[in-house]
Amino acid sequence: MARYTEALCRICRREGEKLFLKGDRCYTEKCAAERRKYPPGQHGQSRGKLSDYGIQLREKQKVRRSYGLVEKQFRRYFLEAERQKGITGEVLLQLLESRLDNVVYKMGFAINRREARQLISHRHFLVNGRAVNVSSYLVKAGDIVEVKETSRDIPSISDSLSKLEHRGLPGWLDVDVSNFKGKVLHIPSREELQLPIQEQLIVELYSK
Ligand code: SF4
Repeated sequence: MARYTEALCRICRREGEKLFLKGDRCYTEKCAAERRKYPPGQHGQSRGKLSDYGIQLREKQKVRRSYGLVEKQFRRYFLEAERQKGITGEVLLQLLESRLDNVVYKMGFAINRREARQLISHRHFLVNGRAVNVSSYLVKAGDIVEVKETSRDIPSISDSLSKLEHRGLPGWLDVDVSNFKGKVLHIPSREELQLPIQEQLIVELYSK
């Protein structure tokens, strides 16, 4: 477990950003990205300047890892974003934000996306009254996401919900904590997304 935990913090340090991959610790002064603001590894403090390609690659890796996706999955979202109307980079982020694991995490039912995925795969959630166990399920405006009645006494869910106020709820979601239920008010606009992402760099990378 310790090794697994360390790996998550290394991802943040490599990308030079707090990606909030763990949970409580991310909001404390123990956060490794705050304490050691340089990439991990023996040569972490002596790395040279990145090329344009390197900058684009790092941006893509940062976003891909934030959402916990492998390259193949991430690429599929990019191709889908290209197919849809709108600015490709923005559509890409909207697709990623619409994933059920992200929504479960942002609604406060899980401390991070990884935990959200595990809870979803164990069928603890309903979307519009029907059980969904697929983390990549894309929610739509108006969808209701709730914890199954028989799963409401799971300690990790209540613990996480109790910290929602501290973490903050995005304006595009609404949550009724006492009823373990949330609503997707709308799909977030670019301005509502809080991660410091330069999505144009990802579009440039994949357009080469
Ligand atoms: Fe670790 Fe900080 Fe990243 Fe959280 S935000 S995973 S504590 S480095």
